[in-house]
Amino acid sequence: MSSAQNTPPKTPIKNLRPATRLVHGGTLRSQFGETSEAMFLTQGYVYPDMETAEARFKGESAGFIYSRFSNPTVAMFEERMALLEGAEAARATASGMAAVTAAMLGQLKAGDHVVAAKALFGSCRYIVEELLPRFGVPSTLVDGTDLDQWRAAMRPNTRVCFLESPTNPQLEIIDVAGVAEIAHAHGANLVVDNVFATPLLQNAFELGADCVVYSTTKHVDGQGRCLGGVILASNDFIQTHIHNFLRQTGPALSPFNAWVMLKGLETLPVRLMQQQRNATAVADYLASRPEIARVLYPTRKDHPQHELAMRQMKGGGSVVTFDVQGGKEEAFAFSNALSVVKISNNLGDAKSLITHPATTTHQRIGPEARAESGIGDGMLRLSCGLEDIDDLIEDLAAACDAIA
Ligand SMILES: *Cc1c(COP(=O)(O)O)cnc(C)c1O
Repeated sequence: MSSAQNTPPKTPIKNLRPATRLVHGGTLRSQFGETSEAMFLTQGYVYPDMETAEARFKGESAGFIYSRFSNPTVAMFEERMALLEGAEAARATASGMAAVTAAMLGQLKAGDHVVAAKALFGSCRYIVEELLPRFGVPSTLVDGTDLDQWRAAMRPNTRVCFLESPTNPQLEIIDVAGVAEIAHAHGANLVVDNVFATPLLQNAFELGADCVVYSTTKHVDGQGRCLGGVILASNDFIQTHIHNFLRQTGPALSPFNAWVMLKGLETLPVRLMQQQRNATAVADYLASRPEIARVLYPTRKDHPQHELAMRQMKGGGSVVTFDVQGGKEEAFAFSNALSVVKISNNLGDAKSLITHPATTTHQRIGPEARAESGIGDGMLRLSCGLEDIDDLIEDLAAACDAIA
């Protein structure tokens, strides 16, 4: 077209800033020119002729084959996530746990060894502590904040190191770059579950991770609707360890859920920044109340690893953890007195959600492991949502009054 000659060259999406990538990145527009991304609810694809089908199966011609491993809506979501993270490649999965499981099993075989931080999301801990050893992959759990423990746990056959930072629910900060250095010195890969930080507040690749996983169920959806997950890594890592594993075992993200996540990414920066503003104000308010024994929030000066948090994160995130004065009885009374904040074990939602880890998410690990991890009976984890901050503070004030 002649007019194209007068159009200045378009800026490649990779040169645009994150918020812009999140609105436009990865869009595949159909012949109808729709503004909003289309949802392709299809299992399969038709080919114009047998030769095309043959070429696609041989990988000689680009195109979709079957939605267990390739679908246009899912591909848009994967491309937008990769652009956000600055990763070469991404693969979406049906849930965050499907992403973690594939990221681990995809690169391990019997005889390998895994080192992981103790403070893991409950199901992640099951994978490392119970599932992998059943298939001949023993694991060592360490205090993630102590680099000497990581060093001491490494063996010649250690293939993978695995961590979350900030951790759930204590919001401990693990030195990602420090662990990456140890892992690489021993020829192991570092997998980071970056859910609590989100891609906007912590770039685990820049800190040395080889593979980053998310439960997109949390902030990426952000409105509590669909489960989803994603694995991000280099092209080589995805091709060597992940692509075929997912293709053949089938934990595929539904195109419907991928569409919800894709649209969620467009508003992620504005939502997350508002949640973070609310979390910062909530943390400061709770710290001012005598009924609250301790507040944990990464960007507060009294956080035990404040300096490390400021070094490796761009913000404190949407979750505040705190201990009420007393134990389970006071924690329950506090939570039951809330009305705007809802009781739920999820996080990253538009709605503020509170949970009592000792009796819910961390009930299974038992009292000794909880004590060792500093998860007391008075601890509550609050995921701050998008409500007006004054309503949140009034709600929390009433709950403090209820246990005064
Ligand atoms: C929620 C969560 C998961 C699991 O994700 P699902 O989507 O629920 O399967 C894994 N890791 C962390 C840190 C999480 O918060």
